[in-house]
Amino acid sequence: MTVAPPATPLRLTIDGEALAHNWQTLDALSGAAKAGAAVKADAYGLGARRVAPLLARAGCADFFVAHWAEAADLVDLIDPRRIAVLHGPLTDADVAFAKATGVRPVLNSLDQARRWREAGGGLCDVMVDTGMNRLGLAAGDLGQLAGLEVDVLHSHLASGDEDSALNALQLQRWQASRGTLPHRRAALANSAGIALGAAYHGDLTRPGLALYGGIARAELADVIRPVVQPQVALLQVRQVAAGDTIGYNATFTAPGPMRLGTVALGYADGYLRCWSGQGMLRTGDGGELPVLGRVSMDLTIVDLTHVPHLTEGDWLNVDYDLPRAAAQTGLSQYELLTGLGNRFARAG
Ligand SMILES: *Cc1c(COP(=O)(O)O)cnc(C)c1O
Repeated sequence: MTVAPPATPLRLTIDGEALAHNWQTLDALSGAAKAGAAVKADAYGLGARRVAPLLARAGCADFFVAHWAEAADLVDLIDPRRIAVLHGPLTDADVAFAKATGVRPVLNSLDQARRWREAGGGLCDVMVDTGMNRLGLAAGDLGQLAGLEVDVLHSHLASGDEDSALNALQLQRWQASRGTLPHRRAALANSAGIALGAAYHGDLTRPGLALYGGIARAELADVIRPVVQPQVALLQVRQVAAGDTIGYNATFTAPGPMRLGTVALGYADGYLRCWSGQGMLRTGDGGELPVLGRVSMDLTIVDLTHVPHLTEGDWLNVDYDLPRAAAQTGLSQYELLTGLGNRFARAG
C-alpha cells in the first residue's frame, strides 16, 4: 500500500513567468552578449531542477554551478556540455566526471589546468583573477595554458553592485587577459555587471540574483520582477489577556486582549531571528499581521486581533520583498534567498 506524503504547512511559490521574464530582460540588457544563468546553491534556494528547465525554455543555454554534485543533479535535464562548474576540478574524480558527461570545468589554478591536461584536456573554461583574489588564475600565468581548448574565459567583478573604481580596473585587466589566451567566448558580468554597460558584457553574461527577483543595482529595480513568495499555514490560534507574554524570553507583552496565530515558520527555515518583532505576514487580501516576540526554530507568532475570521489551516503570505527585506534585516538579498530551507515545498 502506498500512502500520499503528508501535506506540508510551508511552501515557496515560484512565479515561472516572472523568472522567464527576468532572464529575457537580462538577456536583452546584455546587448550583443547572450545571458546564461547561475543556478548554483540549488538556484539560490529556489530548486535547480525546477528552475533550470524553465530558464532553458525561456532561451537560456549556459548554466553555471559551483559544485560538481550540483552539475550531477542537472545532467538529465540540461545538455551537460552547457553546464560549467565554477569551482573547477579539485580531484581526479571531478575530471573523470567531466570527461564522462561533457560538463565543462572552469580551471582556476595552474594545478587544475595540469590535472585537466594530464587527463587529455578537451573543451574547458578558464577563470582569470582581475582583482577579487578569490578564485582564478593570475593573469601572468595564463600563458602556461597555451594549447588548452578554452570555451569561456571568465573573470568576476568584486564590486559590480557599487560605483567603484575597481569595476573599470577589472574591466581593463579582463580585456588585457583576452589577448593572452585564445578562447571562444569571454564573460565578466554577474547581474550587477549587466547594468554597468556594454563594455562589461563580452560574449556571455552570468546573472544569478536578478533572475530570482533580487535587485543587484538600482538600474534594475523597474525591470526585474519578484519571483518567490513564501507562504505558511496557521497551526493554532489563541486569545490572550493584557499582561500575557509571548514566545521565548517573553519579549512581547500584550497591552490588551489579543488574538494570536502560530505559524509553521522559523529560523530553521531561514526565517532568522532578526525578524523577531520586525517581520510581517499578510492575509490573502494584504491585511497586516505583525510578527510578535521571538522567532523560534519551527514557529513564529503573529497578531490576528484584527482578522477574527482566520482559523487553523488558513494560509498566510510572508512579506519577503528582497531589497526591502535586506534593508530591514541587514541580511543580503543572496542570504535571504539561499537561506530558505528544505522544509518549504517549492511550487510553481
Ligand atoms: C554567483 C556568481 C555569479 C552570479 O552572480 P549574481 O550577483 O548572483 O548575479 C556570476 N559569476 C560567478 C563567478 C559567480 O560565482
